[in-house]
Amino acid sequence: MKKIVSILGARPQFIKAAVLSRIIQEKNEFSEIIIHTGQHFDKNMSEVFFEEMDIPKPKYNLNINGIGHGAMTGRMLEQIEEVLMDEKPDLVVVYGDTNSTLAGALAAKKLGVQVAHVEAGLRSFNMSMPEELNRILTDRISDLLLCPTITALSNLKAEGFDNFDAKVVLTGDIMGDSVAYYGSLSPERSAIIEKLSLDNRKFILATIHRQENTDDPKVLGAILQALNDISSEALVVLPLHPRTRAMMEKFALSFKGLAIDPVGYFDMLQLLKYCSLVITDSGGLQKEAYFNQKPCVIAREETEWIELVEAGFARIAGSYTEELKRACADYLDVVPDFDIELYGREVGTTIYDEIASLLAR
Ligand code: UDP
Repeated sequence: MKKIVSILGARPQFIKAAVLSRIIQEKNEFSEIIIHTGQHFDKNMSEVFFEEMDIPKPKYNLNINGIGHGAMTGRMLEQIEEVLMDEKPDLVVVYGDTNSTLAGALAAKKLGVQVAHVEAGLRSFNMSMPEELNRILTDRISDLLLCPTITALSNLKAEGFDNFDAKVVLTGDIMGDSVAYYGSLSPERSAIIEKLSLDNRKFILATIHRQENTDDPKVLGAILQALNDISSEALVVLPLHPRTRAMMEKFALSFKGLAIDPVGYFDMLQLLKYCSLVITDSGGLQKEAYFNQKPCVIAREETEWIELVEAGFARIAGSYTEELKRACADYLDVVPDFDIELYGREVGTTIYDEIASLLAR
C-alpha cells in the first residue's frame, strides 16, 4: 500500500486535513501518517480538533513552537527530514500557508518525495505577510497544485506554471466539505449557543489573530475600538486567539463585548449559524461565513478570497475603526442574497482523485 505523509501544524490545517483523512480511511487504498509540527499546541487550538473531527492521531509530534519564523521553519525542516527518511512516503501532502507548510514541502522535495499542496495559488500580493512567502515558495516546489478558485489557478498561470513540471488543477475549496459535514453534526455536538445565552440575541462573531493586526498597539487598538463601539449596537462575541490575548494584555487594551477562549469546530459552526455577521482577519472564516450565508467584514487590506468581495458577500475594511463600523452597519441593514456558488462541491473527493492519479503513475 502506498504511503502518504500529511504535515500539519496549525488550526486551519487540522480542519482541512480532517476532510481528506476521512476519505483516505474510507477508500482504504493508501495509508496515511500524520506529522504534527507542534506550531499550534494549546489543547483548544489543536487537540480539540483531532478529537472532535476524528482526525487520526499524529504518529509524530515535533513540538516546535514559540520561536521566530526562521528558527521555527529551520527546526521543522530538519526534523521533518529525519521523519521522512525513516517513513519513506510516496507523497507528502501540505496545506495552506504556514511555516509547517513550507518546511514540509521543502524537506520532502529535497529528498525526492512528491508534494501535493492543498490550497495552492492563493495570493494576497502583500510580500510583508509571512503567509505570502510560504505560499509562493511552497507552490513553486510542489508537484500537484490543488487550487481552490479560478483566481488561484490564474495566479499560477500568470507566474508561469504552465512551463513547470507540475500539475495545476482547479478543485474548489475543501472547507465547503468541512462546513457541510461537520455542520450537519454541530447542533448535536455543541451547546455553545445555550451556554452563552445567544439563542434570542443578535450578535456578531469576530476573530482577530493576524500578526499585522495584533503586534502593533495602534492597529490592534483601532480594531478593538471598532468592536467596542459596535458592541453597544449588537453584542460582539470574540473567541480570542492566544496571540491576540497576549498582545491585549501587553498593551493594556480592553474589549467590551464577550471575549471567550478559542472554541472547537462544532462550537464555531454553531456560532456561525446563529450570528448576524462576521468580522475577521482569518482566511478560513471568510469562507465559512459565506457557506453559512453570513456577510463578512474583512479586517485586512486585501484578501486572497477576492470572489467574495466581488460578489458583495464580503467587504474589505482594513484595520480602520470607522471603516469597520460602517461596513458592519451596512451589512446589519441589508443582508446580501447568497445566490452564487463560488467554491464547488465534494471537493475532498476531487482532491483525493487527483492524489490517487498522481500515486498511480
Ligand atoms: N476556528 C475555530 N475556533 C476558533 C477560531 C477559529 O474552530 O476559536 C476555526 C475557524 O472556523 C476556521 C479556522 O479555525 O475554520 C481558521 O483558522 P485561523 O483563523 O486560525 O487561520 P486562517 O484561516 O486565517 O489561516
